[in-house]
Amino acid sequence: MAKTMRAVIKSSKERGITVTEAPVPTIKNDDEVLIKVHKRAICGTDLHIYQWNAWSQNRIKTPVILGHEFYGEIVEAGRNVHTYKVGDLVTAEMHVVCNQCAMCRTGKAHLCEHVVILGVDGPGAFADYVVVPALNLWKVKPGIPEEYFAIYDPFGNAVHTVFEGDIPTKSVLITGAGPIGAMAAGIAKAAGASKVFVSEINDYRREMAGKMGADVLINPAKENLVEKVMDLTGGEGVDNILEMSGAQPALKDGLKVIKKAGNLVLLGIYNNDVTLDFNEAIIFKGITIKGINGRKMFDTWYRMDGLLQTGKIDLAPVITHHFPMEEIEKGLLLMEEGKAGKVILS
Ligand code: NAD
Ligand code: ZN
Repeated sequence: MAKTMRAVIKSSKERGITVTEAPVPTIKNDDEVLIKVHKRAICGTDLHIYQWNAWSQNRIKTPVILGHEFYGEIVEAGRNVHTYKVGDLVTAEMHVVCNQCAMCRTGKAHLCEHVVILGVDGPGAFADYVVVPALNLWKVKPGIPEEYFAIYDPFGNAVHTVFEGDIPTKSVLITGAGPIGAMAAGIAKAAGASKVFVSEINDYRREMAGKMGADVLINPAKENLVEKVMDLTGGEGVDNILEMSGAQPALKDGLKVIKKAGNLVLLGIYNNDVTLDFNEAIIFKGITIKGINGRKMFDTWYRMDGLLQTGKIDLAPVITHHFPMEEIEKGLLLMEEGKAGKVILS
C-alpha cells in the first residue's frame, strides 16, 4: 500500500486550508479499523475551521486532518474487531466517546464528558485513509444510495432533533433551512407531521427545503413570519419549533407562533448570549425546551436507516455539488456564499 495519501489539513492559525500529501495512518490498537475513504461531505464546522472563527481558534490544535462526514471501505481490521471485516462499506460516528463517564454509562454517550471528534480534535476523513474505532462504525445498507452515508452525520442531527419534538399529526415550524433544516423538513413529513413550515432568508436554501417536502416556505426577511403562520393555522400557531438557524430573530419569532405547551427543540448554535422574555415566551406558555447535541448512539442511527428504508424520504435535493477533494476550497466558498447544500468530495 502507498505510504502517503492526499489530505486536507488545517495547518496555520488563519483563514485557509492546505491540500497536501500526508503519511497513511496506521491502526494504533486492536480495536480500530483502517478505512479507504470513498466520499466525504463538507460540514458547516469545516467552513468555520476554514474561516478560523473564534470557536475554531479556541478548539483546533493545528495541524489536523479535517473531515468527519464520510463513508468508505475497511482495508484493515484490528485483531479484536469481529463484527466488521475487510471489504465492508461503512460510515462512522466520529464522536469518539470514553464509555466510562456518567453520561456514557447511562445511555447518553452523545453527551460524553471526554468526547474526541475525529476531523476536529484528531485526524479526520478528508484524506484517502482514516483510522476509526470499530465501536464507532455503521454499516452501509443495501437499498439506500451509497452516497447518502457520506452525510449520515448531519442527517443524524436532523433526525435526532425531529424525534425530540412531538411530530406525528402535529404542526412544526423549522427555522433555518441549511442542509440540516432542509433534511428536517423531509423527515418531519415522513414522520407524519400535519404541516411543515420552513422559514429561511436565503432563496437557494428555501427552495431546497421546498424540494424536501416543506408545505409552507417563508422568507422572514421579506414576509411577516408571525402573521403568515398565525394566518395559516387559524390563529392557533404551531405545536413544534425546530430551531436550526442559530439566529436569535428566528428563535424569537418562533416563540411568538408556538402554541401553549408546545415543544421548542434547539439545534442551531448561537454566536452570542440569547436574551428572551422568559416569562411570556416560555414560562406562562408552558413550553418544553430541549437542547440537541450530536446524534444518539446509536438510537438515531437505527432511525436513519429505518427512515430511508421506508422510501418516504429522499436526500437527493440537499446534495447540490460534487468536487474532487483537491478542489475543496471551491465547495467551501460556495457554502460561505449560501449557494450550496451538501458538497460531496471524492
Ligand atoms: P447552516 O449555517 O448551513 O444553516 C443555517 C441556516 O439558517 C442558513 O441557511 C441561514 O440562511 C439560515 N438563517 C439565518 N438567519 C435566519 C433567520 N433569521 N431566519 C431563518 N433562517 C435563517 O447550518 P447547518 O449545517 O444546516 O446547521 C444548522 C444549525 O445547527 C447551525 O447553527 C449549526 O451550527 C448547528 N449545528 C448544531 C449541531 C449540534 O449538535 N447542536 C450539529 C450540527 C450543526
Ligand atoms: Zn464518556
